[in-house]
Amino acid sequence: MARVLFVTSEAYPLLKTGGLADVSYSLPMALHELGQEVRVLMPAYRAALSKASELRCAALFEVHGQNVAVLEGRLAPNGPLLWLLQHPGYDRPGNPYMGPNAQPWPDNAERFALLCRAAVELAQDRAGLNWRADIVHGNDWQSGLVPALLSLEAQRPATVFTVHNLAYQGLYPYEIFQRLGLPHQLWSMHGVEFHGQMSFMKGGLAYADRITTVSPSYAQEIQTHEFGCGLEGLLRQRHEDLSGIVNGIDAEQWNPAIDLHLPAPFDADHLEGKAANKKALQLRLGLTPDANVPLFGFIGRLVQQKGIDLLLKAMPQLLDSPVQLAFLGSGEPLYEQSLLYWSRRFPRRVGVVLGFNEALSHQIEAGVDVFFMPSRFEPCGLNQMYSQRYGTLPIVRAVGGLVDTVVDVTPETLAAGKASGFVFNKASAKSLLKTVKRALALYQDKAAWSAVQRTGMRRDFSWQNSADRYLALYSQLRPEAVAVKSAPEELPAPVVEPPVKKRAVRRRKVEEA
Ligand code: ADP
Repeated sequence: MARVLFVTSEAYPLLKTGGLADVSYSLPMALHELGQEVRVLMPAYRAALSKASELRCAALFEVHGQNVAVLEGRLAPNGPLLWLLQHPGYDRPGNPYMGPNAQPWPDNAERFALLCRAAVELAQDRAGLNWRADIVHGNDWQSGLVPALLSLEAQRPATVFTVHNLAYQGLYPYEIFQRLGLPHQLWSMHGVEFHGQMSFMKGGLAYADRITTVSPSYAQEIQTHEFGCGLEGLLRQRHEDLSGIVNGIDAEQWNPAIDLHLPAPFDADHLEGKAANKKALQLRLGLTPDANVPLFGFIGRLVQQKGIDLLLKAMPQLLDSPVQLAFLGSGEPLYEQSLLYWSRRFPRRVGVVLGFNEALSHQIEAGVDVFFMPSRFEPCGLNQMYSQRYGTLPIVRAVGGLVDTVVDVTPETLAAGKASGFVFNKASAKSLLKTVKRALALYQDKAAWSAVQRTGMRRDFSWQNSADRYLALYSQLRPEAVAVKSAPEELPAPVVEPPVKKRAVRRRKVEEA
């Protein structure tokens, strides 16, 4: 049994801004079920405190001259222990990363350096909790300094660092590095220094014993100039320690047969219920309730990464076809305003809800026929998996986790019973529209459509496989600590092939298809 300290800046259901929160709930839960002793550490944001129950103060200690507390509870009633790190810097309303002006909180470097330092104290049993970690698993830049700081300890746990999105790096001027009082040994081009700035992300990438990303394709992509955000050289150097493990989904939260957010349940053998969800969604969004019109959906952050600009560019032609559209998201004001424009122009055909709404996100997945994910890059992506589970065919771009989890509809994949959605290659409105045409053509063939729906709904996206793979990785690092209950057949393969070549082959395949 390994003692795992899982460090994260957000976790469902306490606080969620994106996929990291889902992973920070599901993976620790799955590892806990596999018999590991997991502790999930995250900041005690005000919103998280209001959602957590039965917390007790388990420790009071000092971190680099600041007093902090650990409030202990459970991630879920039968789940692993949750450690909320309490400090005045986390006690503010709203988004954990940004203030109401949509700008990063000015003290983010201090807030997340404190999280990292506290993680080190907890992992090293210096917080009075009588617990020492075998493995510390950090996630994204907010916990990037954990492997860096631990590397300076004479005796330390093994470290795993998972990249959920390389585009957010936690970059700060050198003065901040000094102000944080970080050990000077870390300041080098082989350490946290990145073109004269300090990079939290590099702290994870340079010092962790193993690096993972949330899909095998993304692990390849980030070694290239196109997706590497300037860190591709370092990642290529570390390719033997780098692997991709695709995220799973929470098969209970996202199960259309028991989803309490839905007006009508359904499953692969009883698809009829989906029609009731479609109608309810059309009514909710003010669209014409028509069972036959293909309804397309989009949920996500309204930023360029998600390809929302491609969708907006395609809008005039898209609306030339008899389709309806449902959007849920929030983000850059220009995209928000553009969506509102289209919904005002076509109120019975375009429904837009701005903001974050968990229940509506389930209702959209259940109610639409097709789901758009035309991302420019996508480390893993979750909605394309939710879509398949909900009998909704995703249209995705051939990047990252999207290409790893959606099987393009072709005559061959259809015949083999493997097709589950539509994959396109070029990040352009034209390519997207061509793919919409393919989807509309298939929609006319009701038998083929429902066969693809059923294929998607029966796919196994559960966390079991992925959690086994993380556990195998832990056991490579600390074989004596990890008693693997059911030994996975193979260890996660490090990425060793030249990334660019493989990418090109994969793209060609998609294009040919
Ligand atoms: P990312 O982490 O890059 O934002 P992912 O697809 O990995 O993207 O995960 C996003 C998660 O957040 C999904 O569970 C998605 O349904 C959810 N989500 C995103 N925007 C919204 C929103 N406006 N309302 C409800 N859920 C949302």
